[in-house]
Amino acid sequence: MIVTRFAPSPTGFLHLGHAFAALTAFDTATNAGGRFLLRIEDIDRARSRPDYEDAIKSDLAWLGIRWEEPVRRQSEHFADYELALKKLGAQGLLYPCFCTRKEIADEIARAASAPHGPEGALYPGLCRTLSLAEREQRVREGAPYALRLDVAKARALHSSLFFEERGRGPDGETGRQAARPELLGDIVLARKEMPASYHLAVVLDDALQGVNLVTRGQDLFAATHVQRLLQALLGLKPPAYAHHRLILDSSGKKFSKRDKAATLHDWRQSGRSPSELRAMLEFDGH
Ligand code: GLU
Repeated sequence: MIVTRFAPSPTGFLHLGHAFAALTAFDTATNAGGRFLLRIEDIDRARSRPDYEDAIKSDLAWLGIRWEEPVRRQSEHFADYELALKKLGAQGLLYPCFCTRKEIADEIARAASAPHGPEGALYPGLCRTLSLAEREQRVREGAPYALRLDVAKARALHSSLFFEERGRGPDGETGRQAARPELLGDIVLARKEMPASYHLAVVLDDALQGVNLVTRGQDLFAATHVQRLLQALLGLKPPAYAHHRLILDSSGKKFSKRDKAATLHDWRQSGRSPSELRAMLEFDGH
């Protein structure tokens, strides 16, 4: 039985791109006689707001979407994420990174061949090679740090990983995909102000909730590669993926939370119906 989900962050109103994602996941579950889950991804405590969560639920209900209760809220599960981090730490796969954003940008500008991925320059690895003594000293001095995954080291433990794409990646990828976890570089898994990152929380939650089909936009296709590696490291059963096309604004860009006019809230206020929205999104249930 298909178990899929829609996993928004309550940091703004849902926009038309979210509506498409939610309808795609909901219809996929409903058409297959499967289960549809809603998960609130609110690990970013500074930007998440309960009124946005309420608005998300109200917009989804207006769209005709029904979900199972209770809704999993990530902020209530930091202990799960901490345990997973400990597991990765015990395997020697994490390192503290003391770099500021500016230090990273300067190093990228300086290095002639800074590594790049599909989303731009990757972390150039400044802290990867610090000695244990240097790390300990900086921690003792109280320097704030993030924990990064040493992808090369982790990859050496799981050199051959695959995931199943039932939708389409941005370049038409479909079917069995060889995972390339290095695409996003040494990703951050935790920070002082955010003890679990998106990648860590999403992988754990999908497994803990028994999600076997991750439905989401093609903008997260590159993330799937490193998420597959995290599943292997944590001994989690990998779900299949259905990445769907993105809904673009009139200038051909992805909708963002800054596009106030493109919110579902505004759409509702203007008196238009859910079926008009489906037609506008050229929604065919796939
Ligand atoms: N919370 C993520 C977002 O709002 C989506 C996570 C996912 O579908 O994997 O972009």
